[in-house]
Amino acid sequence: MKSAPFEYVRAASAGEACELLARHGDAAKLIAGGQSLVPMMAMRLVRPVFLVDINEIAALKFVKVEKDVVRIGACTRQCVVERDHALAARVPLLAQALAWVGHVQTRNRGTIGGSLAHADPCAELPLVAQVLGARMLLRSGGGARTLDAEKFFAGPMATNVRPGECIEEIQWPAWSWRHTGSAFTEISVRHGDFAMVAAAAQIAIDGDGRCVRAAFGLGGAGGTPLAFPGIAARLVGTRLDDAAVKDAADAAAAESEPGSDLHASAEYRRHLAGVLGTRVLREARERARSM
Ligand SMILES: Cc1cc2nc3c(=O)[nH]c(=O)nc-3n(C[C@H](O)[C@H](O)[C@H](O)COP(=O)(O)OP(=O)(O)OC[C@H]3O[C@@H](n4cnc5c(N)ncnc54)[C@H](O)[C@@H]3O)c2cc1C
Repeated sequence: MKSAPFEYVRAASAGEACELLARHGDAAKLIAGGQSLVPMMAMRLVRPVFLVDINEIAALKFVKVEKDVVRIGACTRQCVVERDHALAARVPLLAQALAWVGHVQTRNRGTIGGSLAHADPCAELPLVAQVLGARMLLRSGGGARTLDAEKFFAGPMATNVRPGECIEEIQWPAWSWRHTGSAFTEISVRHGDFAMVAAAAQIAIDGDGRCVRAAFGLGGAGGTPLAFPGIAARLVGTRLDDAAVKDAADAAAAESEPGSDLHASAEYRRHLAGVLGTRVLREARERARSM
C-alpha cells in the first residue's frame, strides 16, 4: 500500500521545525529516520498531511560525554551511539540495548529521539530511558522544557510531547561508582523483532560487595516501559544473593501488567518477566563484581 498524499519540507534548524509544526498543527509530523513512521504511513495507520524532515539539522546530531551525564542529540543515528566507545564506557546499558534494536540497516537510519518519540512499550531504548531516568529536552516556539522519562511516556505509542514540540536532546545519567555493571536481554519471535518481553538492569556495589544502587525494569510488560524503583531500593545494602535477586524480579513480574496477543499470552509474558528480570540482575551484579 502507498501512503496518503503529503507535502514535504526539510527544516534547517530545530526552531524552523517547531515553527512549521506550530503552523500546521495536527496535520504535521516530524520525520527523522523514518524507520517507524514510513511503514505506518504506508499502512495508512497515520496520515500526516505535512512532513517536516529534521535529518539535515546538524545541531540535533551529537554525543557529549560529560561527568555525570551523556547528552545525545535527538537526531543522532542509533548506529553512531552503538559504536561510541566513550559513551559505552559511561552508559553501557545503552550500547547493550542497541544491539537488540531492529537490524544493522534500521539502526543506520533510525534515530535515538525517533525511537523514544515512537514510544513502543516493547522497544529497547524507551526501557533504558525509563530504567536510568533519562531526561528529554523539548523545544517549541514558546521555549524549552525538560521531561523525565517517568513523565515522558504516557501509554502505548503515546508520549507527553505536546503538539509543536520537538525532542532536541536526551540526557542519560552516568553512574560514577567504580563497581557498576549493567545487563539487557529480551525474548522475541526472531532476532531484530520488537521484544515479547525485555529486561534491563544496572547495579553498583561498594568494595565490600554490598549494593549501593540498583535500577531495573521491564519492556513489553505494560502499556509503557516499566521501572521498579521501590523494589530496586530494597536491594540496596544487601549482598545481592541469588534469592534476593529472584525475589526482586518476581515482585516486579507480579506488579507488571502484560497483555495477550497472537505472539504470547499475558501469563507467559509475566513468566518471562520473572525469568529475564532475574537474569539481568544477576548479570549486572557479576559485571559490577568484576570491575
Ligand atoms: C524491520 C524493522 C525492525 C525494527 N525493529 C525494532 C526493534 O526491535 N526495536 C525497536 O525499538 N525498534 C525497532 N524498529 C524501529 C526503529 O528502531 C525506528 O528507528 C524507531 O522506532 C524510530 O526512529 P526513527 O528515527 O526512524 O523515527 P521516525 O520513524 O522518523 O519517527 C517515529 C516517530 O517519532 C517522531 N519523531 C521523530 N523524531 C522526533 C523528534 N526529534 N521529536 C519529536 N518527535 C519525533 C515522528 O514524528 C514519528 O511520530 C524497527 C524498524 C524496522 C523497519
